[in-house]
Amino acid sequence: MRAIQVSRRGGPEVLEIAEMPDPRPGPHDLLVRTEAIGVNFIDTYFRTGVYPQPLPYVPGEEGSGVVEAVGADVRDFVPGDRVAWCGTTGNYAEKVVVPAAVAIAVPEGVPAPQAASTLGQGLTAHYLVYSTYPVQSGDTVLVHAGAGGVGLMLTQLATKIGARVITTVSSDTKEKLSREAGAVEVLRYDDDIAARVREFTDGEGVAAAYDGVGAATFDASLASVRIRGTVALFGAASGLVPPFDPQRLNPAGSLFLTRPTLAHYVRTREELAWRAGEVFGAVVDGTLNIRVSAQYPLESAADAHRDLEGRKTTGSIVLIP
Ligand code: NDP
Repeated sequence: MRAIQVSRRGGPEVLEIAEMPDPRPGPHDLLVRTEAIGVNFIDTYFRTGVYPQPLPYVPGEEGSGVVEAVGADVRDFVPGDRVAWCGTTGNYAEKVVVPAAVAIAVPEGVPAPQAASTLGQGLTAHYLVYSTYPVQSGDTVLVHAGAGGVGLMLTQLATKIGARVITTVSSDTKEKLSREAGAVEVLRYDDDIAARVREFTDGEGVAAAYDGVGAATFDASLASVRIRGTVALFGAASGLVPPFDPQRLNPAGSLFLTRPTLAHYVRTREELAWRAGEVFGAVVDGTLNIRVSAQYPLESAADAHRDLEGRKTTGSIVLIP
């Protein structure tokens, strides 16, 4: 089978197509033929070495596809089932082994590219909005990178609960998409974000800032949150936030700062099934639109990374084997 292999750290050019033996499922695993592979910002952190990753490796944390074979102890899936999954490694490949414990049946009618994008980004949006800071109807919240994969989903979920969502984006096209997802106010990064947020909230500040941009926005996030509000720093698209003095949380309003990660919010099969059921349910009933803005052939993974890091993408992007 063909797969993308990374043998050295670096730019998108280190994503090279390679011929590899088909993977073999263990007793609790599924062998899946991938139909679409989600490309996430975290894939760039592993590629460059921001997050540690032994070499060589096959990138990719999520996908969707058709079950070809199941391990001897698998009871819930059979060959031919359509499944999606996230949080596993080695997914930029024509075939992958997926532990049955993390596989989710794809509802009828959800196309493979949408299915491949729903879990990683959708579950993240879900846990941020329902668990990290549980959004209440009437809250105002701030979401950075509002037209990105997580950003569009987070905006839709928070809006559905009844929150007013303020976002940041870098272009007019992204502003339009963010507004379509429900944002009531869309700012640019070079605006005085905290001042604009205070104006919009009668001086109060937002209940929570969801910040996946990191270095470039962190200070504005801290300055935008109301007394006893939450800053959920969930990513670093612009770079890691430098070392931070916790004393700053005091004058900023006795704030809560958290640096959450998806794995800690899907700790059991029950928790994963609950979140995935809600997210796929919203996709099926039309209240959550999964925007897949670009599909790249597997061998063009480098182009996908270039576009993602170059801020050229909106919503989700996938590789097609
Ligand atoms: P996005 O589709 O949101 O792409 C990243 C976006 O960040 C860009 O489109 C861009 O939007 C914005 N951005 C701002 N500054 C920069 C910069 N200097 N370089 C590149 N992009 C920049 O990606 P994802 O939806 O995949 O991920 C969003 C964030 O969520 C990432 O930080 C990711 O690591 C994080 N994440 C965290 C998880 C967790 O559990 N902690 C799980 C999943 C994702 P614009 O042009 O509008 O600024």
